[in-house]
Amino acid sequence: MATDLFNLCALCVLCGKRFDVSTIAENLVRIRERIKTAALRVGRDPHSVRLVAVCKTVEPERIRQAIEAGARILGENYVQEAQKKIDVLEKEVSWHFIGHLQKNKAKYAVRLFEMIHSVASFALAETLNGMAQKEGKVLPILLQVDLSKEDTKFGAPEEEILRMAEQLGKLEAVSIKGLMTMPPYSDDPEDSRPYFKKLRIVQERMAQMRIPRVSMEELSMGMSGDFEVAVEEGATLLRIGTAIFGPRPMK
Ligand SMILES: *Cc1c(COP(=O)(O)O)cnc(C)c1O
Repeated sequence: MATDLFNLCALCVLCGKRFDVSTIAENLVRIRERIKTAALRVGRDPHSVRLVAVCKTVEPERIRQAIEAGARILGENYVQEAQKKIDVLEKEVSWHFIGHLQKNKAKYAVRLFEMIHSVASFALAETLNGMAQKEGKVLPILLQVDLSKEDTKFGAPEEEILRMAEQLGKLEAVSIKGLMTMPPYSDDPEDSRPYFKKLRIVQERMAQMRIPRVSMEELSMGMSGDFEVAVEEGATLLRIGTAIFGPRPMK
């Protein structure tokens, strides 16, 4: 993956140093090409896959470059950080929340974001529903499923998601559009494949339940290191940060 992020500078034969000479716009072109190739490989329409440019820790000026290069959905993990960026960037892009959402931030999240990818409990769905009702809108959300039994970082296990699904139909101001998952970190994109396959199976099961306001058309899966595998397994929303903006500063 690293070789994708860094092009060797033409002068490197002389100086021996590595420079990150690829621009955000060039990265986006290359990523779109790779998405297209992966989609066509499995007979999918490349237009059925949307790119969420994940811009946590990225400053507005560089986000603007991505917007100018055609990024239309931006992903953020932090409500306050997003608020600052949305204030200075143009409005024609849409913002998706992809991070861990605390209930006390739900009110702001409902106002700022067009979709929340990371709803992992009925309680949070209910809170968002209440806030959306007050705002007079219907908020599209995804349920975050934790498919790795051993570490339950964020996300609800599959059984809980299926159980939650029945109750969710009662919430009138949230619209459940699909599922999101984040496989455990690995250097090998193939390690993510079983998780992506599993998410699609859960999606199919939930779709068969025919719950009102639960439509299940979106699968948010795939990041910088494994998005081609995700496309092959049916992803409709890719959350890509590093491959667009370069490595993030260590915390
Ligand atoms: C940061 C983040 C991403 C993007 O990860 P990259 O590896 O930089 O592409 C995707 N999804 C979530 C939930 C994230 O927090």
